[in-house]
Amino acid sequence: MPLERDRYRPDWDDFSHKLKCAANWTCQQCGKVCRQKGESVEAFANRRFEPKSAAWVDAIAHPQRYCLTVAHLDQNPANDEPDNLQALCAPCHLRHDRLHLASNTYAKRERRGQLRLELRAGDEAIA
Ligand SMILES: [Zn+2]
Repeated sequence: MPLERDRYRPDWDDFSHKLKCAANWTCQQCGKVCRQKGESVEAFANRRFEPKSAAWVDAIAHPQRYCLTVAHLDQNPANDEPDNLQALCAPCHLRHDRLHLASNTYAKRERRGQLRLELRAGDEAIA
């Protein structure tokens, strides 16, 4: 989910970092502790899990699963009200955004200039 930077506040990186720190680098949906900014994958895995355990191996093999993000729950990056923001691990963020995938795809295409084609009752379909 690449950011469209121009839709976010200019200080988004610092702003979202503060929210992640306030959440103690923990997903506010599933409770998973995530890797902190600047922490290596190995240091994170060693801090959180028994070395060579299944969880440790998973953290090493799939570090993206332990990446904390900040989600705009209403899908509007201009709405930075506290009740619209939640620190979510990447899997929870993807699950949340999946609910809005179709509408976000259309909105993104329109922002890039693609026009919306709407059929009205009585319009004939063109084969
Ligand atoms: Zn989560």
